[in-house]
Amino acid sequence: MLSMLCGGLKAQTPGNEPSRIVVAYVRANRAEMPDPSRITHINYAFGRVNNTFNGVTISNETRLRSITALKKEAPWLKVCLSIGGWASGGFSEMAASDEFRRAFAADCARVAAEFDLDGIDLDWEYPTSSASGITSSPDDTKNFTLLIKDLRKALGPGKLLTLASPGNAGYVDFPAIEPYMDFINVMAYDMGNPPRHNAALYKEDAQGNISPYTRGSVEWAVKNHMAAGIPKEKMTLGMPLYGHGDGKNYNRDVAFKDNNGPKEGFTEEWDDIAKVPYYADADGNLVLSFDNVRSITEKCRYIKENGLLGGMYWEYSHDNETGDLTRAIAAELIPKKFVSAQDVRPASYAGKVKRFKALIYYSDRVEEAHRQFASQAVDFFKKLTVGDGWTLDVAKDKLPDLEGYDVVIMPDAAPGNASDRARFQEYMENGGGWLGFHGAGYNDASTGWDWFRDFLGGISFLCNTWPPQPALVDVEGFDHPVTRNLPKRYVAPSTEFYQWKPDPRANTKLRILASLAPENFPMGLKDVVFGGDFPVVWTNTDYRMVYINMGHGDECFSDATQNLLFINALRWIVASSPKGDPFTR
Ligand code: ZN
Repeated sequence: MLSMLCGGLKAQTPGNEPSRIVVAYVRANRAEMPDPSRITHINYAFGRVNNTFNGVTISNETRLRSITALKKEAPWLKVCLSIGGWASGGFSEMAASDEFRRAFAADCARVAAEFDLDGIDLDWEYPTSSASGITSSPDDTKNFTLLIKDLRKALGPGKLLTLASPGNAGYVDFPAIEPYMDFINVMAYDMGNPPRHNAALYKEDAQGNISPYTRGSVEWAVKNHMAAGIPKEKMTLGMPLYGHGDGKNYNRDVAFKDNNGPKEGFTEEWDDIAKVPYYADADGNLVLSFDNVRSITEKCRYIKENGLLGGMYWEYSHDNETGDLTRAIAAELIPKKFVSAQDVRPASYAGKVKRFKALIYYSDRVEEAHRQFASQAVDFFKKLTVGDGWTLDVAKDKLPDLEGYDVVIMPDAAPGNASDRARFQEYMENGGGWLGFHGAGYNDASTGWDWFRDFLGGISFLCNTWPPQPALVDVEGFDHPVTRNLPKRYVAPSTEFYQWKPDPRANTKLRILASLAPENFPMGLKDVVFGGDFPVVWTNTDYRMVYINMGHGDECFSDATQNLLFINALRWIVASSPKGDPFTR
């Protein structure tokens, strides 16, 4: 038995409940980013066999890179490239030739290394079958085994090799390939169209009653794979986040997010044998078969009761906006302590080695309330260095040589003289990091520093709210490390807020991370803001920088939520250093 399971696949949680895996297919032609907290594995869909049968082409490489980048913040996450999909051809030709097959396998290894992948998932639908319009041959099954062996050899034992298999467990020689596979994703769906269920859990109940709407079932698909030689510990159960309609009253394919209850004249029913819902017409005929939270939960319990490795679903973006199905799956299969059990490693002690080097630069020649903030900022960041974790140097009014600093923190002012400005610009243009607060971003017509205005987002000071006061802040950009673990909104302690012209959000290079909530307006007792877009935290994606509008007076460090935002910002800037992320070492 080859030992090729990636670390942690079989991790146990403290409560002794096995951690199961949750494999999400994520499509190339979607924009939304999956929430890694609901997933352990992503199968990126799709790559294809190339036109010359000797390599891989990937749909939307940019998106694949942003998907693998999720691993930075979700170290438990594994990302595989799924190759194939319905009607994706070239497999039969490729697998039939020793030369093509080995070139293809080598290219899979190249792609895995180049895109930071954890493995390859094969979705050839299906060997020996031309049902989807692709070329096939009676030799496909035999050649598939050769392909799996070549792939395992090329990928090595450290990468995942998985397979999507239809419910009938046909087409491949499972006993021959099983030793080389990490697990099999059982596509326990598309087992019927109305009047049949898409993905019934059972066909029959304990009393022998048979559901009239069922042909295949989840139970049938799992048993087929066990009979074919796949142990249950190597099986994930596929669940559809979509249903099938009759093509008349409902579309043939209906994503869960597009299913908003039965249309007028139809009713929602529950098949208590099959354990799935459906819509029925006035005569009781099944017109839409689908899954909901209840049926998905039943399937997840089946996975646990039967000791399967985990669940799989097609596909992430079919879920609704609130993530009802993907959350339900995670809640059932990924115990709360999963992440800590699997991935929280003992702290690594760097000893006397400092992880990074920061400079805090401030000026005394600013207004009293800004000096107050700067003085507290020095204390706040100094405190974070306790235990020799990192170095914080402090500079007042004069910017030192910036070489070697991973981040420069400016709590109240940006450099004022020409040589310091040139030094800062050169530093930032060569990969420097900047965390600026409040007065450090201030610039107007008299500032005379065009580069800095562009650096901040092409914006200048317009006006401010007065007096300083707390405000309800909307946190944005939840997939961004700077807003990690922040609530959707919080009340920021008293500060003065700046408005800018033009609106920072109009600059597409800026990523807005927080803004004042509309409910604040009208806000102010002297200078009153009446409404509008009011970004307060952002990053200019051309640089390694975060600007935070808070920073006036002596209350800004009095709120834990906001302090976390400050620390997240510092950490992210340092982590994205061109020298590499010091926190991963
Ligand atoms: Zn101020």
